[in-house]
Amino acid sequence: MKADLVITNARLVDHSGEQRGAIAVSGGRIAAIGGNDAMPPAERTIDAGGRVVMPGVIDPHCHLGVNYDFDEDIRTETAGAARGGVTTILLFARSMEQKYVPYYWDRRERGEQGAVVDFGFHFGIQKAEHVSEIAEIAEQTGVQTFKCHMGYEVGNSIGIHSSPDSWVFAAMREAAKLPRGVVAVHCENTELVELLKPEMKATGRCDLAAYSESRPPFVEEEAIERMIHLAEITGCPLYVVHTTVAAGPTMAAAARVRGIDVWIETCPHYLTRTAYDADLGTTAKISPPLRDRTQLDGLWKGMLNGQISTLGTDHVPFKKNGGDIWSEKPGVVSFPWELPLMLHFGVHERGMSLQRLSELNSYNPAKRFGLHPKKGSLSVGGDADLVMIDLDEERVVEHPSGKGTCLYEGWKLKGWPVLTLSRGDVVYDAAQPDAEVVYGRGRCVTVPDAERYWD
Ligand SMILES: [Zn+2]
Repeated sequence: MKADLVITNARLVDHSGEQRGAIAVSGGRIAAIGGNDAMPPAERTIDAGGRVVMPGVIDPHCHLGVNYDFDEDIRTETAGAARGGVTTILLFARSMEQKYVPYYWDRRERGEQGAVVDFGFHFGIQKAEHVSEIAEIAEQTGVQTFKCHMGYEVGNSIGIHSSPDSWVFAAMREAAKLPRGVVAVHCENTELVELLKPEMKATGRCDLAAYSESRPPFVEEEAIERMIHLAEITGCPLYVVHTTVAAGPTMAAAARVRGIDVWIETCPHYLTRTAYDADLGTTAKISPPLRDRTQLDGLWKGMLNGQISTLGTDHVPFKKNGGDIWSEKPGVVSFPWELPLMLHFGVHERGMSLQRLSELNSYNPAKRFGLHPKKGSLSVGGDADLVMIDLDEERVVEHPSGKGTCLYEGWKLKGWPVLTLSRGDVVYDAAQPDAEVVYGRGRCVTVPDAERYWD
């Protein structure tokens, strides 16, 4: 048998360890892993020259089609993802008008017409009716993660409906019955936000830090604690999205010791930026907000000691209004830079192992959201979703499209993806910057009857 591709002389790294050798790809899947001499003959051979080859990044948290049209976002943003070594993205999608089952089929079809890499969905609980639809949605779409928002006051700039505790509790009760059910929660005490925001506004402050200080860490910490309690009562796995507070990982670790299934996700911006960075203005508004150096350092502790489970970018392209911090739309983009940021600030600056990075970026999200063993590790038979990394390459962050807010433009980072494979297809090659991007090859990974689908 002839393989489609063999990559030789690689440092093959995943969550379980590292070995030197080669990896063969056939029919979009990993066909063999072993010594350079043990590989089958191949149509094409790439010499990695000692560089790292890891499973592609699975980004479990992003939003597309919120500001720009979905059909446009799915093309431009998944092309950016491929450049960043990201091979699967999971969208937190929400719909008020359309029911989620028809919404899913519409988005899935449009996604498969435009996407460069694979994608899937989680759905937002935006009204009480959504809770009663959970069983039906799971059966007919395969989506088993449901997100409850908090901290968005009535009349917020992006039209999100915050969940009262009754929605969260009821959603957990329903999701707990599903084989892979998860409730994801944006943890911020909505009522405290509603009290504190007008107080801060009344001081006349309108800087980036004023927004952060109007929703202080305890607002998030209190909500995490409360959600852990509800997860314990319902037995539903809890996934805390975009955690900004250092206490989050410690609370989750303590809960896990008590047998509660709670995972903490954080984002690259909370690990690299603070609300007090002099070069940032109101367009750096993110929900929840950037914090300070103490929280940032505390989050890195959780990154290194295993208390944080996953990294999500919360990538969302917004046209910012550039005005008042209180009415500005929250959100930034980071698909192309998440991996370089983690290589630079995690691996190089803080000595994080590549194995740990692969656990955070690939294995854990695959496990949590039902994609493993098909994705998330280097396993024979699994999808050949791979990223080759040059640990020594230094490149300056550029954001020529200007679509969405990039917080890293002009930063020189060390460690970049140089080749990305999605199910065996080269979707990004740094050596061929002008190569044509193939749209519409990405496939939806949240599917009905997933267990059969993955066989
Ligand atoms: Zn988000």
